[in-house]
Amino acid sequence: MTLLEPKIWEGQIYSGGWTAPRGGTAPIVEPATGTALGTTGLATAEDVAAASAAAAAAQPEWAATSFEERAAVLRRAGALIEQHADELHTWMIRETGSVPGMVGFGTHVASQECYEAAALASRPVGEILPTAQPRLSLLRRVPVGVVGVISPFNAPLILSSRSVAPALAVGNAVVLKPDPRTPVAGGFVLARVFEEAGLPPGLLHVLPGGAETGQALVADPRVRVISFTGSTAAGRKVALLGAEHLKRVHLELGGNSALVILDDVDVDQVASVGAWGSFLHQGQICMTAGRHIVHERVADAYVVALASHAENLPVGDPATGAVALGPLIDAGQRDRVHQLVTASVDGGARLAAGGAYDGLFYRPTVLDAVREDLPAYSQEVFGPVAPVIRFSTVEEAVRLAADTSYGLSLGILTRDAMRGLALAEQIPTGIVHINDQTVNDEAVAPFGGVLDSGTGARFGGQSNLDAFTDQRWITVRGELPAYPF
Ligand code: NAD
Repeated sequence: MTLLEPKIWEGQIYSGGWTAPRGGTAPIVEPATGTALGTTGLATAEDVAAASAAAAAAQPEWAATSFEERAAVLRRAGALIEQHADELHTWMIRETGSVPGMVGFGTHVASQECYEAAALASRPVGEILPTAQPRLSLLRRVPVGVVGVISPFNAPLILSSRSVAPALAVGNAVVLKPDPRTPVAGGFVLARVFEEAGLPPGLLHVLPGGAETGQALVADPRVRVISFTGSTAAGRKVALLGAEHLKRVHLELGGNSALVILDDVDVDQVASVGAWGSFLHQGQICMTAGRHIVHERVADAYVVALASHAENLPVGDPATGAVALGPLIDAGQRDRVHQLVTASVDGGARLAAGGAYDGLFYRPTVLDAVREDLPAYSQEVFGPVAPVIRFSTVEEAVRLAADTSYGLSLGILTRDAMRGLALAEQIPTGIVHINDQTVNDEAVAPFGGVLDSGTGARFGGQSNLDAFTDQRWITVRGELPAYPF
């Protein structure tokens, strides 16, 4: 049997099994062709309320289940993703416009998220604390109850599974709201995987819907922790509403990450690294290298090499051809990308490659002679655009790299790795890669940004315990204490 048999999920939401949504349905449109691949159910605030109530009712029994049983479900989920990888890839290429390498990475990371979560289930759940009293004093981690997960369109399977898997593993129930443009990769895949893996009923709900559905999830009193991945603008709204309802809110937001290239590099080698950082998945990755900050001694040669990469990369439908870049997700994103590029060229940037599109297929673009005030440099583009700016001193490179409201990832390319590390110390970001570009992800590594890229919260590895449990102080005495009155 296939995991994604359409008759199972078509037009439905997943909440207490596959059920009819209250919000009607919407087509799932293949960005490469405009073809409707199927329909998704759309959840309303009422669906959110029903799901949260069911999740809260199911959660205590799951939390009381032995860690061995919880871990076994997570291991089976990881194995199912691996076993059905070919089927998932075929679907994800069409739904998200990703090239095969990108969806292969997606299923790999998602299965690793499940395996790491399985291991999390049996990690120590607390500490023995020092105490000045004749008693046992303990810190115990307990599940928070119901976790709300809100995920974006760009890497939907990874960004949903990195919260869903660990939250379930440590004994929570989850209500997941994927982006309605990618409801299958961002939600129904996990619903089907956990259904087949034997997760008891009521513990995972998948409710595709828009901002209003997300707001209902943040406001629901039964949902105690929100894991939000998306834009900084939406994250701010989630944080505001979360504050009103006294929620713990983990925010993984936008970025405009710098790739700093020092003067001691081999230009041909680093051009490939820079091209990958800006053009992978059409630049629709939060960690995409949005600013190439290049030493003036190597900048001319670097622009030539990067532009040559850009010009030679095939762009097209990843379902039917061997391409390096697929389509952008929709016309709104395409128009935004093109507007930022056009405004930057009008403002004085030199178009070294790209700058044109056909339908949703945007050519990989290199902008040279960029200034800090040009919008393709100063804003998150979320498209395949590599703006290059020059520096002459290391101090200037640090100032340029740090001069952004974001703080997600940073790449520094130099033959002198220690010099790179010393530079990184002066640029605030949540992630640093010396001698690599900015886009990296591993289930075992703590992932997250600072400043406008997030609250500094982390997903991944041990950090998942902090994200998805509460801490409880417990003391135990053998005898009653004697008080003065
Ligand atoms: P978006 O913020 O518009 O949407 C993300 C999700 O939030 C979607 O499910 C959407 O329906 C929901 N949403 C939107 N407004 C909401 C609101 N007011 N309340 C509750 N939910 C709401 O993001 P997008 O533009 O579709 O995605 C791209 C953005 O996500 C980029 O800025 C990118 O950098 C960021 N992103 C960050 C990370 C990270 O880990 N830091 C990873 C991937 C993407």
